[in-house]
Amino acid sequence: MQTVSLHDIEAARRRFAERIVATPTVPSASLSERFGVPVHLKLEQRQTTGSFKLRGASSAVASLNADDKARGVVAASTGNHGRALAHAARLEGIRAVICMSRLVPANKVEEIRRLGAEIRIVGSSQDDAQVEVDRLVVQEGLAMVPPFDDPAVIAGQGTLGLEIIEAVPDVATVLVPLSGGGLAAGVAAAVRGLKPSAKIIGISMERGAAMKASLDAGRPVQVEEMPTLADSLGGGVGLDNRLSFAMCRDLLDDVVLLSEAEIAAGIVHAYEQEREIVEGAGAVGIAALLAGKVRPAGPTVLILSGRNIDMGLHRSILCGTAEAERAA
Ligand SMILES: *Cc1c(COP(=O)(O)O)cnc(C)c1O
Repeated sequence: MQTVSLHDIEAARRRFAERIVATPTVPSASLSERFGVPVHLKLEQRQTTGSFKLRGASSAVASLNADDKARGVVAASTGNHGRALAHAARLEGIRAVICMSRLVPANKVEEIRRLGAEIRIVGSSQDDAQVEVDRLVVQEGLAMVPPFDDPAVIAGQGTLGLEIIEAVPDVATVLVPLSGGGLAAGVAAAVRGLKPSAKIIGISMERGAAMKASLDAGRPVQVEEMPTLADSLGGGVGLDNRLSFAMCRDLLDDVVLLSEAEIAAGIVHAYEQEREIVEGAGAVGIAALLAGKVRPAGPTVLILSGRNIDMGLHRSILCGTAEAERAA
């Protein structure tokens, strides 16, 4: 079986380290006190472009050959991958086309446009957007950079795991936001490679957790996509998944699912106690602890994976009106 090793991740870091921010890992006084173990926050929402996706995109762009670079890159994206790829492509001076479904929030689409990428809005799911990607690969010869199921992308996301071990060498548990599993696979490979006893727990939302459904079924399955506060965790794992499904199956110790109210509580805690603005997907680690769905034993690291939330939505969550509106 093809996989991504610690060695691949270290090699990826050497290829693109100067393109990304090595984000801080900081102790959370409030969560450490509450749970009686050291809890650290990996502040990856402060990454350039507002999410960890820049690591995978930079890794993939760095591994393209000259012909690929001349023709350009294309991707389907729930927003953050597209934004990251647009940024990474612009740094290299190459063309980028980003295909998205109608569910992607307008603020994310606008950011990608501003980075100089061409935008295609197609259908109502990540799978619909992927059909357009496949067409552009065949008809225009663009190089596809998948959001998660790709060795260079997973190796790039894994560099975040290297930084976690460097910051918290005695880490016992890492909580990783989980969608297609590129982040979880890369982080798990890095952390397990350096500290085999560490536990890696994936966190998704109840509304449309494709990886959880696939792990339960023992093979990639499709789930219905639904609106959720953790919009960056939407989308399927791909029925022809090559890498991230198997790596998550082999490397994750557990996967837990959160309600919308629990995710909202995570966003509120991040802001009021930690003074950090995070999107729903970035808040799920905090939310899982607060909801009692993960009981931390030993030093624990939560990955705040992104901050690209619509600020009007963020305000209404803080005011407690977002849930009421969604329920109505
Ligand atoms: C993409 C994304 C995730 C999930 O990453 P996968 O590799 O698809 O599992 C989590 N948080 C944020 C902010 C993201 O953009």
